[in-house]
Amino acid sequence: KGFIDYKLSNDIQQALADLAYEQPTEVQRKVIPRALKQADLVVKSQTGSGKTASFAIPTCELIDWEENRPQALVLTPTRELAAQVQEDFVNIGRYKRVKATAIFGKQSFERQKLTLKQKNHIVVGTPGRVLDHIQKNTLPVNRIKYLVIDEADEMLNMGFIEQVEAIIEALPEDRVTSLFSATIPEDVEHLCRKYMKAPENIEV
Ligand code: AMP
Repeated sequence: KGFIDYKLSNDIQQALADLAYEQPTEVQRKVIPRALKQADLVVKSQTGSGKTASFAIPTCELIDWEENRPQALVLTPTRELAAQVQEDFVNIGRYKRVKATAIFGKQSFERQKLTLKQKNHIVVGTPGRVLDHIQKNTLPVNRIKYLVIDEADEMLNMGFIEQVEAIIEALPEDRVTSLFSATIPEDVEHLCRKYMKAPENIEV
């Protein structure tokens, strides 16, 4: 089965064709159909498996273009990963004209504030800076429907647990949460139990 067999709009199909993505990778085959059904997912997978597109494709498909406030929040452990994930969203969402922005530390807060005032569907960021914007009311989260926690094990290893929990607690409860991690240690499992609704486990 190729991407052509998935229930994806033409805008997304065209972007995947441009990227020369024809066959979904294993993680994409397992994640995309379930994510399109808006299930909470815990996905054990490595980088390089195509995991970014496994959440970026369904998220781009599901967002409502008309809504100006952010609908999806993606947390990543590092700035580099945030920038890379944002670029993947831009590529996959190109024809749908999906607006994705990356916010992370070591960048001007004021400039990010201006960017966040514009139309944004998707915000990708590191926990410290994301929480800072939430607390200063410069990142509206009341329309967030999709939360992705990427590289959760790395994020917790880097000591971001308190920020991650504070962010999740600021989000609407009525949302879909997916978590990606190369390993599922106890602290990651704890996060899943505390904040996810009967998540489906996927191992790649
Ligand atoms: P990731 O695991 O998300 O870092 O992705 C690893 C690499 O695989 C990236 O360079 C992607 O652009 C590429 N990639 C992801 N999905 C596909 C696909 N279905 N077909 C071909 N390349 C892909």
